[in-house]
Amino acid sequence: MQLSSKILIGMAAGVATGAVLNVMADAGGFYANLSAWLVNSVFDVVGSIFVASLKLLVVPLVFVSLVCGSSAMGVNTRMGMMAVKTIGLYLITTGLAITLALTLANVIDPGVGIELQADADFEPSAAPSVKEVLIDIFPTNPVAAMAEGNMLQIIVFSILMGVAVTRSGAAGERALEVFRSFNEVIMTMVLFLMHLAPYGVFALLARIFSELGLEAVLDLAKYFFTVLLVLVLHATVVYSLLLKLFAGLNPVKFIKNVRPAMLFGFSTASSNATIPVTLNVAEKRLGIDNAVASFTVPLGATINMDGTAIMQGVATVFIAQAFQVDISLGGYLAVIATATLASVGTAGVPGVGLITLSMVLQQVGLPVEGIALIIGVDRLLDMVRTGVNIVGDCMVSTTVAKSENYLDSSIYNEVSDRDTYQARSAASG
Ligand code: ASP
Repeated sequence: MQLSSKILIGMAAGVATGAVLNVMADAGGFYANLSAWLVNSVFDVVGSIFVASLKLLVVPLVFVSLVCGSSAMGVNTRMGMMAVKTIGLYLITTGLAITLALTLANVIDPGVGIELQADADFEPSAAPSVKEVLIDIFPTNPVAAMAEGNMLQIIVFSILMGVAVTRSGAAGERALEVFRSFNEVIMTMVLFLMHLAPYGVFALLARIFSELGLEAVLDLAKYFFTVLLVLVLHATVVYSLLLKLFAGLNPVKFIKNVRPAMLFGFSTASSNATIPVTLNVAEKRLGIDNAVASFTVPLGATINMDGTAIMQGVATVFIAQAFQVDISLGGYLAVIATATLASVGTAGVPGVGLITLSMVLQQVGLPVEGIALIIGVDRLLDMVRTGVNIVGDCMVSTTVAKSENYLDSSIYNEVSDRDTYQARSAASG
């Protein structure tokens, strides 16, 4: 059976188990105790270990992979072009995402007639300024950057190192050999984890759904389904059009091949933790050369969040309507700019979209307390939008790779009825 099918089964079983645990918790007595024990002592432990094992690989993989990738490309106009195209496309797709969200939200009017009381306190945290974001990209201490998992700093350091490798003659070649070997070894570790994924996602989803009250979804159904609709439209229609238009590639094959990364994103709600899987999918299933993927994937996990921007667009309209505040056209433009920039300055970790939403709301003078209205359904939406964020990273990576002649069409077109990485690991093992 394909790995993505196994993951899907793990997910479905996790959701069903979580729902049963949820009912058991409400039943009280023995059942509630059993449910609490299973959630806290079994599923929480297995799920947390699974996510920790994924995160464990992020920093070493990005580092060695990007040193290999940037040394393969070298510093030249080609690398510059690739960087400009990547960043440009990330910004354009995020801009499109939020524009679509604002437009559809204004048609559906999810917040009209809502008289909800804020049922939770939300502490807004200060958003970083553009100046801080820029300065913060440059590391003073690469070890500290790695210890903190500061992705942009790790990217800068790795590119510098990769470039230096190409300029260091025989010593550089020896160093590169070591980096290439480590890259293979860490990719093998990623494979181990991918095979454990069905059990990991089962535990993660069982825990999450044991705590998720569906009442919140019913209360906020219009908001919830508007966000969901825009997410689905963006991931299917917009990405397919862009892929066809910019790269002339078959979108159906893209969606099929990108699936494991999307499912991991959904289960972990973290683009960052999913980087090892996204990188694996980009190289082994989409056929993107390491020279491109090692740069575009970690960068995308950090600066490209189309799904998050969509939630922020719909949430802004929803909160404005619920508080009966009119937003001018200028206000909407400010929302587009702020949401796009906000996604650049923050890492892809669970729930970060709500924090940057406070930045967007402040920009157009909406009450930040409005966030408390939507907190109840955010966990579920976080999962879906993270999946979209990751599909977006892969779509841009594919387009850039194709335009720079770094895409292996035979791998891309193969469409894994079987899993490419399984076949490859079997062949190399
Ligand atoms: N969880 C999202 C991600 O990691 C970010 C967010 O929307 O909160 O991509």
